[in-house]
Amino acid sequence: MEHIYDMVIIGGGPGGYTAALYGARSGLDTLILERLSAGGQMALTDQIDNYPGFEDGIDGFSLGEKMLRGAERFGAQTKMAEVRAVRLNGAVKEIETAGGTLYGRTVILATGATPRALGVAGEQELIGRGVSYCASCDGMFYRGKTVVIVGGGNTAAADAILLSRICEKVFVVHRRDTLRATKIYHEPLMKAENIAFCWNSTVSELLHGDKLTGVKVRNIQTGEETEISCDGLFVCIGREPASELVKGQLELDGAGYIVADESTRTSLPGVYAVGDVRTKAFRQVVTAVGDGATAAYYADEYLTETKQAQEDGALDR
Ligand SMILES: Cc1cc2nc3c(=O)[nH]c(=O)nc-3n(C[C@H](O)[C@H](O)[C@H](O)COP(=O)(O)OP(=O)(O)OC[C@H]3O[C@@H](n4cnc5c(N)ncnc54)[C@H](O)[C@@H]3O)c2cc1C
Repeated sequence: MEHIYDMVIIGGGPGGYTAALYGARSGLDTLILERLSAGGQMALTDQIDNYPGFEDGIDGFSLGEKMLRGAERFGAQTKMAEVRAVRLNGAVKEIETAGGTLYGRTVILATGATPRALGVAGEQELIGRGVSYCASCDGMFYRGKTVVIVGGGNTAAADAILLSRICEKVFVVHRRDTLRATKIYHEPLMKAENIAFCWNSTVSELLHGDKLTGVKVRNIQTGEETEISCDGLFVCIGREPASELVKGQLELDGAGYIVADESTRTSLPGVYAVGDVRTKAFRQVVTAVGDGATAAYYADEYLTETKQAQEDGALDR
């Protein structure tokens, strides 16, 4: 007989490890499957200043390690494995990895979402040295400085407003001649005196030494290129949710996020989605952590209810 875990968590970022901590502390037999390293996207950043409890901030890799050790202290196990397929609609869910199939009574999807890159030479090397994908994460590093934002959707608009309060000057580079962002953002953006727009334009080159020093902006209608000196570049052109595994099994929204409200419950019983991969307004460590705790709570409730229903069924017979 194969072992059946109470809770299998796919993804070892902050959402996954918080679910594991709460699950294990509730006495649930809890397994985390992670393909790379504990911490998820956090591991890509040298400094997290907006996770409470660390007054000097903390590097993302160490925070990930702390989350892993915190969950392991209560018995949660981690297996380093990539999940290749899942079958989620039975009472026992099947999770396929290269090392074999695993079984869980509940599954928590914590696979995250990757910010879309511009695809300009030098971008990856300059992450943390001028290139960022998150204004609420990194905006403070650019206090009083000049930054460029690429994008024209809601995130780009909200980030431009946020950065205009921190930075001296904000340039918004957008490939169309009007914003895609909802109307609510338009007025504050147009009113901000330190925001300038480069319409019909893309960033064609990053200028840098050790750090970013500027960008070349290309007008896609005229082909004309201009240079903007800046300290930071915020790329806000969307994210790619890691939801391929559950396509066709769970309800996804138009952008591919797993549809789940604050309860983290998905369209299938016993299956929960936490953190960046679920439909939500604000994707941060602290919101992923909140989701993880909530998912473990509802998974525990589901396990109790299904166990009770089985016992009642047995009594009725
Ligand atoms: C450069 C950078 C800096 C950031 N800075 C901050 C910051 O300062 N403050 C802040 O609050 N937020 C910050 N964020 C955002 C924050 O990191 C995310 O919101 C948060 O990590 C989301 O957590 P998560 O648990 O949902 O998913 P993730 O952290 O994305 O973790 C998902 C995990 O799932 C694993 N996984 C995916 N698919 C599979 C599979 N098939 N099998 C096994 N494992 C799988 C991945 O390897 C990954 O480890 C930053 C993000 C980036 C990229």
